[in-house]
Amino acid sequence: MSVCFFVPAHIVEHLARNARRLGLDADAARRTALASHALRRTRQATATGLEALTPARPGEGDRQIFDDDHRWATGVKQVRGEDDIPAPTTAAGAAFDALGVTRAFLREVLGRDSIDDAGMPLLADVNYGAKYGNAFWDGTRTVFGNGDDTVFRDFTADVGVCGHEVAHGLTQHTAGLDYTGQPGALNEAFSDIVAACVEQFAHRTDAGEHHWLIGEGVLADQWRGEAIRSMARPGAAYDNPVLGRDPQGAHMSAYVPGGAPHVNSGIVNRVFHLCATTLGSFPAVRIFYAALCDLWPRARFLDFAYVVSEQARLLARDGRVPRGAPHTVRSAFREVGIH
Ligand SMILES: [Zn+2]
Repeated sequence: MSVCFFVPAHIVEHLARNARRLGLDADAARRTALASHALRRTRQATATGLEALTPARPGEGDRQIFDDDHRWATGVKQVRGEDDIPAPTTAAGAAFDALGVTRAFLREVLGRDSIDDAGMPLLADVNYGAKYGNAFWDGTRTVFGNGDDTVFRDFTADVGVCGHEVAHGLTQHTAGLDYTGQPGALNEAFSDIVAACVEQFAHRTDAGEHHWLIGEGVLADQWRGEAIRSMARPGAAYDNPVLGRDPQGAHMSAYVPGGAPHVNSGIVNRVFHLCATTLGSFPAVRIFYAALCDLWPRARFLDFAYVVSEQARLLARDGRVPRGAPHTVRSAFREVGIH
């Protein structure tokens, strides 16, 4: 099982390389990069001796929030369970609320009972590491860093981050997509798709009003208007000396062979944006979710296009998505060169 990070390696490494020259907290940038390498190599040890408050009830999708107290370990101290009084810190409260919105989205929009569709408890850690500039899914839980407040703010500040990481769990429990090549890009794209839809669910908006940016809420104030990815315009999310330049392509002609999942996922993100702006975000995500449940670990873009089209046809036949869905989906894939 791979550890799936929110901020891609190309940004993390750019920051670590250029921190001093750019006047950033160089130690924080270097520690974030080192922690990412370590996490990739080995699953983080979970601290023992948990101080359990309300224990999670199996099968109820209960939330449990842990405060890692700025250590580089997860599960350090449980600070809030499903029925406990409000969490003691802002980050713990924000993580608890974000998990709640994500759980409600899964249930109400996708008809899914938590990550495994069997009420798996939802775990999250806050205050992980020291000024850690990232968030990740480690195979069992979502982990949020605080950021350094210059480049990134606390990663619980954007409900989309929680949606994105929980969706990695959902992919793990359905298609089980690999985390390299085209399956890896599909894995990342599905997490961004869920992130965008959870944000719209939380704000009661739809495709036409949504900004289609990913991670805009975790960038510090000076980067207003920029984001980590743009689903509507892959490659246009950011361009500045601190973060570098967004390397995503928006069409198969810009596909990077051997590129990291976060690079080639933009092409699939754009397919979803095209579908959502025609069908509405929630009908579109129902189709993509149904397709995910039919995919397999090494599925490629063309496989995905086929399965999405099939699901659009079946769901439209049953009146669960607009009648034009199969046509919309086919033209969206064609538009980005997947056909
Ligand atoms: Zn991801």
